[in-house]
Formats: sequence, C-alpha cells, structure tokens
Amino acid sequence: MNTKTPTQQRRVASGNDRTQRRSGGRSNSYKKAFGKRSSGRPSFRGFGRAKNSGRSSFNPSQFINRTPSTTEVEEEFSPIHTFEQFGLAPSLLVSLNKMGVKKPTPIQDRIIPEILKGNDVVGLAETGTGKTAAFLLPLIDMTLKDGKRRTLIVTPTRELAVQIEAELKMLGQGMNLQSVVCVGGAGIGPQISALQRNPRFIIGTPGRLIDLINRGKLQPENIKTVILDEADRMLDMGFINDIRAILGKTPASRETHLFSATMASSAQALVKDFLRNPVEISVKKRDTISSISQNVISYSPDKKFEKLTETLEKIKGSRIIIFGAMKYSVEKLAKQLKQFGFSTDSIHGNKSHGQRKRSLDRFKNGQIKILVATDVAARGIHVNNVSHVINYDLPSTFEDYIHRIGRTGRAHKSGEALTFVSERTTEDRRPRPNSFDRRKIR
Ligand code: AMP
Repeated sequence: MNTKTPTQQRRVASGNDRTQRRSGGRSNSYKKAFGKRSSGRPSFRGFGRAKNSGRSSFNPSQFINRTPSTTEVEEEFSPIHTFEQFGLAPSLLVSLNKMGVKKPTPIQDRIIPEILKGNDVVGLAETGTGKTAAFLLPLIDMTLKDGKRRTLIVTPTRELAVQIEAELKMLGQGMNLQSVVCVGGAGIGPQISALQRNPRFIIGTPGRLIDLINRGKLQPENIKTVILDEADRMLDMGFINDIRAILGKTPASRETHLFSATMASSAQALVKDFLRNPVEISVKKRDTISSISQNVISYSPDKKFEKLTETLEKIKGSRIIIFGAMKYSVEKLAKQLKQFGFSTDSIHGNKSHGQRKRSLDRFKNGQIKILVATDVAARGIHVNNVSHVINYDLPSTFEDYIHRIGRTGRAHKSGEALTFVSERTTEDRRPRPNSFDRRKIR
C-alpha cells in the first residue's frame, strides 16, 4: 500500500500500543476518539452520525499517526511449559507436531494446567491468541482418560461452532472423538440423530442448544464441562437467558470455563453465579493488535467504489476481507467487484448456513481472494494468512472494529487494516495545528 499520501492514509500504531501499555489501558488518543458511553462500554462515537449534521462527528484520523512510525519488534514469548510438560496424551503431541504447532501461546501456557487440575477458568482473550486449543487440548486429554466425559461448548455464531469442531478434529485426529455441531439455520434432524450417538463434544449456539434440551434430545445432566466461548458477544446478542437456562440445567458439579475479549458487568455476573473460584487469566489485546498496522483511506463520496478498486489493484494477490454495514449492500458490493474481475464471494445473514460455509471454504482454500462480509463474519472466524481487512463501511462500535481487524495479523503474522473514511469527515474536521499532541500517542 502507498502510505505516503498524507490525507489518504495515516498510520496508527506501534506508538499507540506503547501508550496503551504505559497507561495500562487505552491510549489517550483512543479515549479521545472512541469516548465512553455511560454504560462504560467504549464506543466508536463518531462512527455513528452526529445529530442533525448528517455527518460523522468524529475524525478517525485523530488517532492515526501522520508519519509511519518505527515498527516495534514484538518480544518473543517464552512459555514456562512445553506441550510435553503438560502431560498431554502422546497422540495429542503427535497432532500438534503434524499441525506445526511447536510451543504454547501465553494463554495456553497458563490455562492448560488449570483446566487439567479441574479448576474453573476465566480467559480474557480474543480470537487469534490460541484460546480454542487452550481449552480443547486439556479437554481432549481428559476425555481420552475418561470415555464418559461430555463437554458442551457454547458459542455466539454458527461459524465459530463449525470452526471449533474443525480444530477439535485436527487436534483429535485418529482418536475417535465424536462431536456434533448444533446451530440454528441448519436442519435440526441430523443434529438430533448425531446426539443420539452420544458424542463427547457438543458445540452449538445458545438458541438451538436450549431448543434441543427442551425437546429432550440433549441431556444436560450428563455434561461434565461447559465452555462459554466469546461470552461478551453472546451477551451482546441477547443470549443471557438461554445461557443461564443451559447452565442451570447442567449439573452443579460441572467445570465451567468462560472466554471473553472484554469483561462487562453482565459477564461478571455470569462468572459470579456459575463459576467456582475461577482462575482468571488475561491475554492483553496488544498481543493481537500490535501485529496489525492500521490506516485510513480517504474517499470522495461519489468515488468510493472507484477508490476501493484502486486499493484492491494495489494489494492484488493478497487475501482480503472487506467489511460492509448491511446484508444487501455487502451482496451488491460483492457482485460489483465480480463484474470488475475481482475474485470475490460474500458472507452475510441473508445467506443460509450452507451458503455461508461454502463461501468461507472457498475463501479458506484460496479459490477466491476477497470475501465481502457483514460483522456476522467478524467474530471467531479464523482464516490463515488474511493479509488485509478493509472497513469499506465504518463499524458501529469500538469492539466491532477490534473484532474486524483481528481477522488479520493472526498467529504471529502481520496484517494491515484499512478503514474507508469520507473526505468530508477528514477534511472538514482536520485537526488544527497544535491541537494534536503527537507525544501522547508515541
Ligand atoms: P484461536 O485464538 O483459537 O482462534 O487460534 C488462532 C489460530 O492459532 C488457529 O489457527 C490455531 O490453529 C493457531 N494456534 C493455536 N495454538 C497455537 C500455537 N501454540 N502456536 C501457533 N499457532 C497456534
């Protein structure tokens, strides 16, 4: 990417990360840019519309450095344990070896021993930190030792459920571990049949799981461990009653592990009500964000699509996710890009589960280079080597932004996030000289 045109692209980053680290939280520029709602949840304040003005009230370039800053070299993490030292089954070590996974990530280093000891765990971590293997490895190990053990993994989206099962199959290859994905939008019949075969791992979304429990097809009393993955997202999506109902129906003696990127009061209440003296382990956002360089692309409103094709030409050959705001606009954008000869598919809520899975598979196996998506796709999706995330439409919250850009720069790779910002915003609200204290974000 050309990062030299000052009004077009400005660089965030390692400077911000440094400030974040020093202040132990968000940088001043982040605070200034995103503000805080009274609920305490950060918001992309100006990414909505300012009252009456019909224009964004926030200039995202406020938080972007003018000049490319020096890239910080991430200190390599030295885990305390090797995978062998956890005492995991030899077959798991073979799988890890085949997958090319050599040493535990920070969250795995700390969480695996706790789960093996039978402690409840709260993992404050985003996708991309290796959190899935952090709970799957010990649970597979425990299942191999106790064939009757049943694990229920509750996720916010179908895609995440499918992805967790895929990782389970990779880690548990050749171990004859039965699993089922129970998600809405897919036929319930095959899920019921699979449940009758008494799978060891049941992975699903809250609504479908509670439906299956209510129909008597899923027996919650046999569940030994419950994982709540991306709890914050499930709570945002309004699943609180389903989650409480599911937990309430499983045995009180169960082990419960909750994973969440953020810890809002509703998530804290869940921990208080359903976990027993949990060990809390936090892997900071910086670990994922510092591997992503973030730029804005300024566009004139009548030339937005042109700007996008120009940008895509420059980064040709890369694997790109483009985020749009609405289902229909995402579909339209994907069609337009195809007409312009770009290898594109789309993923959004108007597509069936099967269609979404096919699009995602085509993207994963390299058949298509560009995936146009709504935020539905932002959570939990892991596709290797996504080089660029393009926010063609602005995200509505800070969390959505973080989750979108977290699709790149994963698993120790670097990535680039490009956010389209209307010229009207960047020019009318250009920071006045001296109004922007760059020292604050360095
Ligand atoms: P997750 O945070 O669970 O979404 O994992 C992100 C990606 O990291 C997945 O593709 C994993 O296969 C990969 N991964 C998990 N553990 C490790 C590890 N210890 N080293 C390198 N990659 C890993």
